[in-house]
Amino acid sequence: MNKSYQFRIYPNKNQEVKLNRTLSTCRHLYNDSLAERKRESELNKLERDFGIIPWGKPEWINYYDQADELTAAKTAYQKEVFSQVLQNVLKRVDRSFKNFYRGFGYPRFQGRNRYNSFTYPQSGFGIEDDKLILSKIGSIRIILHREIEGKIKTCTIKKDIDQWYVTFSCEIDKPILLVEIRTETGIDVGLKSLLTMSNGEQIEPPEFLRESEDKLKQEQKRLSRKKKRSHNKNHQRIIVAKVHRKIRNQRKDFAHKTSRILVETYDHIVFEDLQIRNMVQNHCLAKSISDAGWSQLIGFTKAKAECAGKVVELVKPRNTSQNCSSCGNSVPKDLSVRVHICPFCGLEMDRDHNAAINILKISIYTAGTAGINACQGTQRSIDAAGSSPPFRGE
Ligand SMILES: [Zn+2]
Repeated sequence: MNKSYQFRIYPNKNQEVKLNRTLSTCRHLYNDSLAERKRESELNKLERDFGIIPWGKPEWINYYDQADELTAAKTAYQKEVFSQVLQNVLKRVDRSFKNFYRGFGYPRFQGRNRYNSFTYPQSGFGIEDDKLILSKIGSIRIILHREIEGKIKTCTIKKDIDQWYVTFSCEIDKPILLVEIRTETGIDVGLKSLLTMSNGEQIEPPEFLRESEDKLKQEQKRLSRKKKRSHNKNHQRIIVAKVHRKIRNQRKDFAHKTSRILVETYDHIVFEDLQIRNMVQNHCLAKSISDAGWSQLIGFTKAKAECAGKVVELVKPRNTSQNCSSCGNSVPKDLSVRVHICPFCGLEMDRDHNAAINILKISIYTAGTAGINACQGTQRSIDAAGSSPPFRGE
C-alpha cells in the first residue's frame, strides 16, 4: 500500500537560490529532451513516408538513449544537480510520451510557471531532527506535523509561488483486515459543491470556501482589466495565483475531513464514476469543473477506505437523476428542477437524494435488495448511519 505525506519546508535565501536553479536546470533538460524526441519522431515519419533513413538512424530514441547521453556529457549546470534527479526528468519525458500513446495529449514544453517540481527517486535525501537533507542543496528546515509511516520511496520538492513543499511517497506493508460490510451509502456529488447521501443527509462545503471563490472571481476580473505586459498585470497575476492556492488548500482540507467522516461512518461507499459521467455529459462545463474537486474527494476516500479495509465502489452513471428510485420509471427533468416528483408512484423527494439512492441501487455489492430497502423511507441507511448530519455547514 502506498501513502504520501506532504510537509512545508523553509529554505533560507541561499538554499532557495539553489532550489530555483535546480528547477530551472530540470526544466531545460525536460524541454531539450522533449525537443529531441519530437525531432526523432518526425525523422522517423519521414523514413516511413518516403523510405529514406536520414543520418542512418531509423530507431526511435528512448529513455535509455537519453540517459546514456546525459551521463556522457553533462553541462556545468547539470553537474550541480543530483544525478538521479536529472534521470527522473528524463523519466518524466518518457512517461509523457507513454501517456500520449495511451490517448492523452501530446507532450508540452514547460514554461517557467508550469514546471514546478523535481524528484529524488531513490536516494540523495534524508530527515534528521527538523531538517530535510537534500544532496547538492543542503539541510532545509522542515516541520513534521505528522508521523511518517512505512518506508520512504521517493522525495519530491515542489514550489508553489513563494512557498516550498516536500512530498514523501511511502510504502507500507502492513496486513489489511477486510471489514464485514454492515453500513453502506450511495453518494451524489452535485453541481453546487454539495454532497447528498442516500439516507438524505447532506454535507455542505464550509462557508469560507465559497468566500474565497467569490474573491477569486473579483481578482480575476481585476486581472483582465490590467494593461497587457505591464508590471501591474504581473503583480495581479501573482495575487490571483495565491487565491487559487488558498482555494486549493481549503478544498483539500474539506476533502480530507469529509472522506475521513465517510470512511468512519460507512463500510461500503458508492459514487458515480465521474470520468464516465464527464464523457457522457461533457456539454455541461460547470459540471466538469466541479467534478475536478470531487475527483479529489473520491481519491482520498478510496485511499482511506483501503487502509481501513473498507470498500469504495465507482458505478457507471445510469440516469441516476432521471429515474425514480422507488418504481424505476423515468421522470425527465432538467437541472433547474430540484424536487423529484414521480407521476407513477407518487414519490416526492429532493432531486439529489433520489439520485443518491439510485447510485446505491446500481452497486454490484448490493444489487437487488438494497435498492428496495433504500427506497422504503430510507430506513436502511438511517439505521446504518444512526447519526445526525456529520458537519453540515461547518
Ligand atoms: Zn416512481
